[in-house]
Amino acid sequence: MTGAPTHPQSKWLEAELKYDSRVVGKHEVVMTRGLGATVWDESGRSYIDCVAGYGVANVGHSHPDVVRAIKEQVDRLIVMPQSLPNDKRAEFLSELVSVTPAGLDRVFLCNSGTEAMEAAKKFAITGTGRKRFVSMKRGFSGRSLGALAFTWEPKYREPFGDAVDNRNVDFVTYGNIEELRAAVTSDTAAVILEAVQGEGGVRPATLEFMQEARRITQEKGALLILDEIQTGFCRTGKFFAAEHYGVVPDGMTLAKAMGGGIPIGAFVMTQEVADRMPAGGHGGTFGGNPLAMAAGVATIRAMKREGMAEQAREKGEYFMERLRAIQSPKIREVRGLGLMIGVELKEKSAPYIHALEHDEGVLALQATPLVVRFLPPVTISREQIDAVVAAFERVLSGVNPRAERQAQLAAQAAAGETAQGEAIQTE
Ligand SMILES: *Cc1c(COP(=O)(O)O)cnc(C)c1O
Repeated sequence: MTGAPTHPQSKWLEAELKYDSRVVGKHEVVMTRGLGATVWDESGRSYIDCVAGYGVANVGHSHPDVVRAIKEQVDRLIVMPQSLPNDKRAEFLSELVSVTPAGLDRVFLCNSGTEAMEAAKKFAITGTGRKRFVSMKRGFSGRSLGALAFTWEPKYREPFGDAVDNRNVDFVTYGNIEELRAAVTSDTAAVILEAVQGEGGVRPATLEFMQEARRITQEKGALLILDEIQTGFCRTGKFFAAEHYGVVPDGMTLAKAMGGGIPIGAFVMTQEVADRMPAGGHGGTFGGNPLAMAAGVATIRAMKREGMAEQAREKGEYFMERLRAIQSPKIREVRGLGLMIGVELKEKSAPYIHALEHDEGVLALQATPLVVRFLPPVTISREQIDAVVAAFERVLSGVNPRAERQAQLAAQAAAGETAQGEAIQTE
């Protein structure tokens, strides 16, 4: 599904294929517009978007409040470095700290999840005076050389050999308390953990594992850093996934949905951790820029006002209930938390994800070779969820409405009933 398209059909696709580095495999569509949980391609065909920019568009594409905030801010001020205080940044920091767990009230601002992980790593080193880390098998933390050291999947690390320095990282089996206890020592700066592993196949941690991770790190004087980049901002049915577990970490990495689509990242931490970083020990040009801050303020306020955590909880339960009702021998398990949902198949998921897009107009993500991942906007409607489930059921049973319609038209054309080459109406 993400191989190089063989027949570029539009000038946009052709140009993108010609000039892009092509390190990322491309689908054979050109997306041009989005609203709520719907996106459109250049031909005007609509799709129900359960990719949401890799779990970014939690408030929906082009949420009106976010659009208005961005438009107002571009007329006032776009760039201002963090050394110069700014009204929107002050507003954003206050909004952000109003939703983070109590005690996590110091914020380092940056532009992506990977940058948030890099910051977390440095703050953990200076915060503890230690430099070893414990990360999880199947964990994903980003792709810079620093963040890659925490990312388990060997295919992400191997092309770069020992340039990825993970001599200071021990990987333990996600969920295995004994392994974790053995790995955390008086040299451990931090344990890095996703409350629900995303890339690793949509696997929620058990209550026991999360609570033990908190206890063990506290006993050993190590930090517990939760990677809430994908799970944060209402995705799992709470503002942050940590809330499901009654666990307050020493730091959280945030990005993805926080800016309503505008790039933004943050490491939020305790005052104690923040105070131990030497002045000037970390920084960046674009972090905390007024445009991203304005988008972030509007995003967090919309999430609060529209009760998006509760919406994600209710819709997620409904979505998973409907998926579990599918009678298919190809499904091994449906799992998730809120609107972070994975369906593990007994065979490779890629062909089904491709069929969902191509035949049904539904965008879904892969997470490990066997899992189909759904990360829709929280604003997705029940009707759209029903449509996604019905489409998935058809795809699993090998029904292809587009191909059938095509065959039907071809048969009619052969019988002289319609003009040869009639266009297939897609949407
Ligand atoms: C997406 C993601 C990252 C990396 O964030 P980027 O914004 O892509 O740099 C890190 N950790 C988790 C859990 C993620 O889902």
